[in-house]
Amino acid sequence: MAQLSDDCFAFGGPMMSVDEAIAIIASRVRPIAETEAAGLVEADGRILASDVVAPLPLPPFMNSAVDGYAVPAEELPRDRERVLPVSGRAQAGASAQAAQSGHAVRIFTGAPMPAGTDTVFMQEDVRIDDAGRVVLPPGLKAGANVRPAGEDIRPGHVALAAGRRLRPQDIAVAAAFGLTTLDVVRRLRVGVFSTGDELAAPGTPRADAQLFDSNRFMLMAMLRRLDCDVGDLGILRDERVSLASALKQVAQQYDLIVTTGGVSTGEEDHVKAGVEDVGSLVLWRMAIKPGRPVAMGIIDGTPLVGLPGNPVASFVTFVHVVRPTVLALSGATPTPLRPLPVRAAFSYKKKSGRREYVRASLRTAADGSLEAVKFPREGAGLLSSLIETDGLVELGESIVKVEPGDSVGFLSYADML
Ligand code: AMP
Ligand code: MG
Repeated sequence: MAQLSDDCFAFGGPMMSVDEAIAIIASRVRPIAETEAAGLVEADGRILASDVVAPLPLPPFMNSAVDGYAVPAEELPRDRERVLPVSGRAQAGASAQAAQSGHAVRIFTGAPMPAGTDTVFMQEDVRIDDAGRVVLPPGLKAGANVRPAGEDIRPGHVALAAGRRLRPQDIAVAAAFGLTTLDVVRRLRVGVFSTGDELAAPGTPRADAQLFDSNRFMLMAMLRRLDCDVGDLGILRDERVSLASALKQVAQQYDLIVTTGGVSTGEEDHVKAGVEDVGSLVLWRMAIKPGRPVAMGIIDGTPLVGLPGNPVASFVTFVHVVRPTVLALSGATPTPLRPLPVRAAFSYKKKSGRREYVRASLRTAADGSLEAVKFPREGAGLLSSLIETDGLVELGESIVKVEPGDSVGFLSYADML
């Protein structure tokens, strides 16, 4: 079972930076060990469990990159045209006959190079004379239009390293090696709870003072994008005893538990106390906006991340705490989110010492460069702000203001998940 070692709880601290939190998670979370074989297409999006070493060169044999005429090295025209008789035909999928000395060979893309030839003239660049001979222009370099064996990947090379989240192009490499399955880490099982007396589950009646629970579904969908097996654990009431026993009851069935709401320090915030009753807990006060305290805990060896309840805070802290935790638990190579520079089309003031994420849309300015337009309102409860924007402008701890025209880092929602 996955574990978060207890000493991470030495890091309660007054205010933890986002980078500190990510570093602690990466160094303290132990990955699950179970792996399984997945068919090639099924392996897309999974974490590769062992290195894939090239069993053969790619391409496996020297072949032509174009349709044209393969020419022996010694017949390559230097400063004037050369005319060669054509004999033989090299087609893709057929083993090549050796070229006759002094002759060109008709060749097609992907066909093995006939022995004795090393250069291919594109058919567009030659003429055929009345006698059916090929007229070759001067100036082509030896080796042109040929793909040598192993030019793409050499045998023995670690083509795909363990820990990689597999993408369609990785699947192509595995297939090119002749593999039919890949060794992947088993999917993480993650259970998601919402907490709050004000929440009604969609599909059930909603009392006047209630709102429908939206975070649970957002978080489950986010976890699905991280390729987790997600367990829907419903809504916990704001009551310490029942909350604690519900957490205890499910802990052993999951690799990770995620909760939302109830982690502030108000009287009706019971996640902290509930986790302390059945496990161990620290409350991380992260220097991040939007975001409030994030709880990290362990119950019966299973890590728990308690996210804030405001939907935008929940979204942002998921990206910075749950995402790295999921990656670490599944043995994935850490992939830091790298904001790309865009031009700010807004002004903004912030406190130094904390990182802020500004919801923004991208537009193309008149000069062709990308500009980030800030969503006009800032509330951490505004779902519309997440829907109507493309991503988050990341403003680092040391920044205190942004002026229109400044270069800022932009993270798209698509890149986060
Ligand atoms: P809390 O963190 O529990 O104090 O909640 C902060 C705010 O987020 C409150 O206005 C809650 O009603 C709201 N909230 C908490 N949980 C959810 C949820 N699952 N879905 C939508 N809003 C929520
Ligand atoms: Mg609450």
